[in-house]
Amino acid sequence: MNTTFSCVGCGKCCTDHHVPLTLDEARMWSDDGGQVIVLVEAFLPNGLGLPTAQREHAERRSTVVHSGTTEAFVAITFAAYNAGRCRNLDEDNLCRIYERRPLVCRIYPMEINPHIPLDITRKDCPPESWETGPQLILGGELVDRELARLIERSRQADREDIALKERICALLGIRTTALKGDGFTAYLPDMAAFAAALEQAPRQPGQQTGEWQFHVSCDEVANQVQASGARVVTEAPAHYAFISLRAA
Ligand code: SF4
Ligand code: SF4
Repeated sequence: MNTTFSCVGCGKCCTDHHVPLTLDEARMWSDDGGQVIVLVEAFLPNGLGLPTAQREHAERRSTVVHSGTTEAFVAITFAAYNAGRCRNLDEDNLCRIYERRPLVCRIYPMEINPHIPLDITRKDCPPESWETGPQLILGGELVDRELARLIERSRQADREDIALKERICALLGIRTTALKGDGFTAYLPDMAAFAAALEQAPRQPGQQTGEWQFHVSCDEVANQVQASGARVVTEAPAHYAFISLRAA
């Protein structure tokens, strides 16, 4: 696929999109008074929840935790909670924190996950944005080296931050994950508690953080997870939402 691209400043990618943040960016977002959403998914060592081709990438951005009699690879995303317009988007659709905007805002419309190719039909950018500007993709390859560097920085942060994010979740009482591909569990932590956990977690390196359990979409998935040795939650969610990825 070849395409040119030029952002036309429509502001759509800054509206109703939770923006994944590095740990440093989550700290900045919190210090600025913004809300963070925590999204959690995991897969199991026997491959449940994971296409084989994605294993290397998924393993690198996850951390090994305990669940029942097995281990699980849990991936945790801290994202700017943008229900409606981002708090930093001004009336002219300009970013008020442009110089220090998160990495993902700089990378859009490109993907971070190397297994997801750019599909312009799934992006918010209007048709005209793909018709002008410099070459973005040529022969299937990203042309902009600076953009490629930002994507690699984002992947690197995913790998470096995950252990600390898991400890922050422990401090916040976040212990229920979804099965990758089946959904996400989503938490909206109290931001004073989130800021305190950000402070406290680095002071507890190597500390055991406790067991995780799985929230799944249906009995069939529950049976598969349990047969793999992991613990499945049975009570109704009290402090999180389950976002199913399965067709209703
Ligand atoms: S921080 Fe700026 S660029 Fe990022 S979503 Fe908000 S307004 Fe858009
Ligand atoms: S949706 Fe695309 S064109 Fe619109 S502001 Fe975002 S990057 Fe620019």
